[in-house]
Amino acid sequence: MSAGTNGVVRLVMLGPPGAGKGTQAERFAKARGIPRVSTGDILREAVQAGTEMGRAAREVMDAGRLVGDEIMIGIVTERLSRPDTRAGFVLEGFPRTVAQAEALDAMLDDTAPLVVVDIEVAEDVLVKRLQIRRICGACGWTAPPGTKVCAKCGGALVQRTDDNEAVVRERLSVYARSTQSILDFYHRRNTFRSVDGDQTEGGVAADLSAAVASVLGGSR
Ligand code: AMP
Repeated sequence: MSAGTNGVVRLVMLGPPGAGKGTQAERFAKARGIPRVSTGDILREAVQAGTEMGRAAREVMDAGRLVGDEIMIGIVTERLSRPDTRAGFVLEGFPRTVAQAEALDAMLDDTAPLVVVDIEVAEDVLVKRLQIRRICGACGWTAPPGTKVCAKCGGALVQRTDDNEAVVRERLSVYARSTQSILDFYHRRNTFRSVDGDQTEGGVAADLSAAVASVLGGSR
């Protein structure tokens, strides 16, 4: 499975909350044997563990707003400095601001391009998806629709505390206001692609693979 420079795939998944970034990032990362780095998951783990960062982030997350750039850039700098990311990574939930996008560029050497894929889904579809989304209360795994218990640890499924309607609307408007600006930051690059997220999971995965291949070349 060759891909890009030295076989390294560095992928950023963009898209509004509920676009399927997490599901697709996990699937892609597993298929390529590279780590998935989700800043939302890292923050939720910190909240569950009750660390200082988790306590500080919880209130901001529960209100649907963005955690500060300095904290987020620190988290990602540390994560991307670990050796398992040398073979590549799928970054999901980051960057969400132009300052984060600029910091990401500064973190990376030029041995492989940064592929940026935006998953597009209409707002009314997102609101419906987020309201029925359930995660495992014990390990945080996001359950596909129709699942009754966690497939990873058997834990009970719960609604994310930021997936209720009022917070969902706030998160979508935060996305429209600030995160949209990073589309402007990336969309002129020849490593940027968009994928239609309003199709089956397999359909999105196929389009995502094709989009990455069209940037990096090679067959997959
Ligand atoms: P997610 O799971 O990606 O939807 O993230 C859940 C919440 O974590 C967001 O609504 C933000 O409060 C926070 N968060 C995650 N990633 C970032 C980021 N890159 N910048 C700021 N806040 C973030």
